[in-house]
Amino acid sequence: MQRTLVLLKPDCVQRGLMGKIISRFEEKGLSVVAMKMLQVTPEMSREHYAEHVAKPFYPSLEEFITSAPVVAMAIDGLDVISVVREMLGATNGLKAASGTIRGDFSSSRQMNLVHASDSPESAARELKIYFGEGTCSYEQVAKGFLRA
Ligand code: ADP
Ligand code: MG
Repeated sequence: MQRTLVLLKPDCVQRGLMGKIISRFEEKGLSVVAMKMLQVTPEMSREHYAEHVAKPFYPSLEEFITSAPVVAMAIDGLDVISVVREMLGATNGLKAASGTIRGDFSSSRQMNLVHASDSPESAARELKIYFGEGTCSYEQVAKGFLRA
């Protein structure tokens, strides 16, 4: 058994696709073992996307990921890390195969609806960022909706 961190990004929440996408994980037989809505802070974004911080697209990515609330989930299953990555499809929604979540619902390289950990090491690191202490309050979430 493995555990992975899945994030429904701001575009997913704003487009009302949360239920549809959570259903795909449930229908696959994976177990959602924790879930919460929160506002990603710039600090959390830099930690989460540490490997991308120096890249030209990072400022735009940070602006996007902190723009409105996200839903963080811990999902369990056999080989769940690679199974979920397969279900997401390629990073760019325009290039992702039909039948994948990004292929079916996204036409964007940046606004591609869902994040999922890409290795056991990333999963352990990312689960701590989103399910560690002090990452969620009702006030923080409500403020995010007002900004959006
Ligand atoms: P993935 O989410 O498939 O693991 P990456 O780790 O390469 O993809 O990138 C992290 C996130 O940064 C992507 O999901 C996407 O939202 C955004 N992103 C990646 N490449 C670009 C790009 N060239 N321009 C804008 N945003 C990008
Ligand atoms: Mg990645």
